[in-house]
Amino acid sequence: MTDVSEASAPVPLTEERRIVTAIPGPKSRALHERRLAVVAAGVSSALPVYIERAHGAILVDVDGNQFIDLGAGIGVTTIGHTDEAVVSAASAQLAQVTHTAFGITPYEPYVRVAELLAEHTPGDHAKKSLLVNSGAEAVENGVKIARKFTGRRGVAVLDHAFHGRTNLAMTMTFKSMPYKAGFGPFAPEVYRAPGSYPFRDGLSGTEAAAHTIAYLEKTVGPSDLACLVVEPIQGEGGFMVPADGYLPALQEWCSTHGIVFIADEIQSGMGRTGRYFASEHFGLVPDLVLTAKGIAGGLPLAGVTGRSEIMDAAHAGGLGGTFGGNPVSCAAAIAVFERIEQHNLLAEAQRIEATLKPELLNLQQKYGVIGDVRGIGAMLAIELVEPGSTTPLPEAVNSIVAFAAQQGVLLLSAGTWGNVLRFLPSLAISDDLLGQAVRVLDDALAAL
Ligand SMILES: *Cc1c(COP(=O)(O)O)cnc(C)c1O
Repeated sequence: MTDVSEASAPVPLTEERRIVTAIPGPKSRALHERRLAVVAAGVSSALPVYIERAHGAILVDVDGNQFIDLGAGIGVTTIGHTDEAVVSAASAQLAQVTHTAFGITPYEPYVRVAELLAEHTPGDHAKKSLLVNSGAEAVENGVKIARKFTGRRGVAVLDHAFHGRTNLAMTMTFKSMPYKAGFGPFAPEVYRAPGSYPFRDGLSGTEAAAHTIAYLEKTVGPSDLACLVVEPIQGEGGFMVPADGYLPALQEWCSTHGIVFIADEIQSGMGRTGRYFASEHFGLVPDLVLTAKGIAGGLPLAGVTGRSEIMDAAHAGGLGGTFGGNPVSCAAAIAVFERIEQHNLLAEAQRIEATLKPELLNLQQKYGVIGDVRGIGAMLAIELVEPGSTTPLPEAVNSIVAFAAQQGVLLLSAGTWGNVLRFLPSLAISDDLLGQAVRVLDDALAAL
């Protein structure tokens, strides 16, 4: 074993998995000591290897270990780490103008991102956008705008939802640990209804929608609801693809009752599922679409995009923020949209599904703990349970994640019970790297 990071010239980044030290290595362990002294304990890291470089679907740590990244920074570097187009667009913008505050003196890249969002979000109605810094901020603003437009207060959300960590967004999030426990009081007027989770509820889309709607009609009543916020494919909840017809039935109910239908596409959007937005798989045309994560290749940016009459309900000065729609982030986002078009990345997401899903289904045949294989495009997951039941096996997920890390594969867990492994690689990942990752997963399952 050689410690390659000690070489004087930068090591060229090869697209390969390579483990050269214990994981975490000595330099990561030393950095972790420093971190424990000064970084708040509430900020955790799933795998405390400190990353020095990244490209495509490969992460390189400070000890020279290289990992196949199946998490893409939680679905953020969707077009690949340090994509050349993003790096050069953002670098050029950085040197040209870094910040003015769009609310003081505007600039073109913000307008261009709004044009691209209008073009690529579902539906051909007139659309407008607001740009902010994070997913949670997009959620907050989507609700704020829906309330102003409807003059109503109620916000409907679903079981297993994740919408972020600020006060309103955390209230809208389902899971207590780690997101909510001890962090109350929570925001008022948030109503949670059962959703569609085919593996666990066994309901058709029509049946599940009837439950959701009946529940909301009994507990709040449609005339008090400003909006319904749904993730078309739930992210942190465990990549649940709702049963056929579920989401269209909800949208129809919303439009009958003047409830703003908001698709939180923060994790499922920007090409992840092989369409620009997962809503398209279900024939949805949301009133508002929330974007973040994958939109700017790793730079912080988020958006609320939707029907002009709804977006324009907020008075001048009512929306915005100091950093919202930062020029460097906007330049990166423009490059991301261009990359998706030029490299036909939507087809790459379909390729990843075609490569990975049959492999996962094979593993399901082999290992009874894989209760469900699900997802669309490069948003795939397996749910681990006691064989033949739906009893969650979070410990199995934790051992697989730990095993894979030792073998140079970064895997992310998810799920209300922490018993889901999700695969959300960059769309740039090669079939070869995917194949290697599957072999490590196979070994990890065998080692359980
Ligand atoms: C990550 C996420 C959010 C919150 O985004 P942040 O940028 O972390 O605030 C909201 N909704 C969904 C579906 C997400 O996956």
